Amino acid sequence: FKSTEIPVMLARADNEEPEQRYFNSTMQPIYNSADKIIGVTNFGYDVTEQIMARKQVEASEKRFSNMLAQSLIAIAILRGPEMVVTFANDAIIAIWGKGPDVFGKRLDEVLPEIKDQVFPELLNDVYTTGVHFASNEIKCIINRNGKEEDCYFNLVYQPYRDVDNSITGVTVLAIEVTVQMLAKKQMEESEQQFRNFADTIQNLAWIADEDGLIYWYNQRWYDYTGATQKEKKGSRWEEWLHPDHIKKVIAFIEQAWKKDEAFELTFPLRRHDGEYRWFLTRAYPVKDFNGKIERWIGTSTDIHEQKTAELKKDEFISIASHEMKTPLTTAKGYIELLLMSLSEEDATTLYATKANQAVERLNELVTELLDSSKIQNGQLNFTNTTFDFNELVEETLENFQLSAKSHTLQKIGSCSRKINADRGRLQQVLINLLSNAIKYSPKADKVLVTIEEQTDTIQVSVQDFGVGMSVKHLNKVFDRYYRVEEQAIHFQGLGLGLYICKNIIERYGGKMWVESEPEKGSTFYFTLPL
Ligand code: ADP
Repeated sequence: FKSTEIPVMLARADNEEPEQRYFNSTMQPIYNSADKIIGVTNFGYDVTEQIMARKQVEASEKRFSNMLAQSLIAIAILRGPEMVVTFANDAIIAIWGKGPDVFGKRLDEVLPEIKDQVFPELLNDVYTTGVHFASNEIKCIINRNGKEEDCYFNLVYQPYRDVDNSITGVTVLAIEVTVQMLAKKQMEESEQQFRNFADTIQNLAWIADEDGLIYWYNQRWYDYTGATQKEKKGSRWEEWLHPDHIKKVIAFIEQAWKKDEAFELTFPLRRHDGEYRWFLTRAYPVKDFNGKIERWIGTSTDIHEQKTAELKKDEFISIASHEMKTPLTTAKGYIELLLMSLSEEDATTLYATKANQAVERLNELVTELLDSSKIQNGQLNFTNTTFDFNELVEETLENFQLSAKSHTLQKIGSCSRKINADRGRLQQVLINLLSNAIKYSPKADKVLVTIEEQTDTIQVSVQDFGVGMSVKHLNKVFDRYYRVEEQAIHFQGLGLGLYICKNIIERYGGKMWVESEPEKGSTFYFTLPL
């Protein structure tokens, strides 16, 4: 009798629990001299260790093949030159879309549609040369449910080797990326559409990364600047900026970049023939889902004609207001002399007083025009002294009250510290705000001036109870020549006062803003750093 791997429960001499062991056993009869069987020899060979090792290998193989079967990566093993499917996991069976009955079939039986595609040749190459093949986003037309579909895969073919290292087949590893490819294609298409659109518009257009480095320009940009696409890569757009404007523009853009908000700016750009033309450039930040800026889109519109006309107008205003100033001062001097030479009872005194008021008003207008021109040319000069700001406010209010009979000017709060600034210019700001407060509140009878001393600033506000304005004007009233349309018919002015005030305040590092409500009134604020 001969048998292998006989399980035997063995109790040991040391009384431990009985243990399962396995034996290969050979039993033979024992004969005596009369040829009679008198016993049996049993040669038992303990093979427990070998069996345990084998069972472990089997379990690990099972785990491995389960893992392959359940893997999200599509896996198949194709054997022999015919590429017979000997292994295919659920993922690849789903991709092939021909049901589970694929084992033992040739690949060209399972997927007849790939006959004229690259795959049979690629598989054959791997099988014959032993060199693996890998490719991303490779297209394969697969017939699923009777319909041919364009599918995309990240694909690897590896030679499948036997124990003796000979190649007996090919292992296929694939991940389907059709959804991602379609999304990518859609994006490419929409990007192409955008570029076509951007190339047909009249404006120069560009896209910059989050750090402001421009990586794309539309065709119009290349046409205008004469830059070639090759040259442009990596080079900076400042090359086309007018040298006189570079410093200012770069400083402005660096600030604007940090604020993460859309901005606009005008500056001249060089044309291919060397001529500079004025452009209005607007930049918009594009944010991702988390609100982080991922790029900036910009357009530059040619406003050369408009801008040169504006510059000519500014130049004219600057010359005209300058030229008017001298005769005006002379006229004012003579009227004052005339007033002094007349007695109060004299009927002519009234005419002279009226003339004096008119000349005074004219002088204010001309001064506004001159100041605004000076700001434009960077020539508004300041003479700083150290003075008591509280005293300046009190003095201004007192003087102003003398001529403002219709309203009571009331001062709230005070400040104890001195400041270093141009006293005359700050008085000009206060007078401007007070005149506006009275002018734009004809039905009210008071104006409040509040001073608040904060840790490192003084804040002043001038509040009236007049016509007010709606939110949309709040930022614009500080622009040059801006006037609220509804009010312009009823109140006279040039729309320059607030523009000048804001400029003066900002020269000292302060801020100026307004809060207002129609028919309730306005409060103009400014701060000055101490
Ligand atoms: P001006 O008063 O000469 O028109 P400003 O620059 O002083 O020019 O003011 C700009 C515009 O702001 C005014 O035209 C007016 O529409 C508006 N504005 C200024 N101050 C007030 C105020 N206190 N209340 C309402 N609107 C005001």
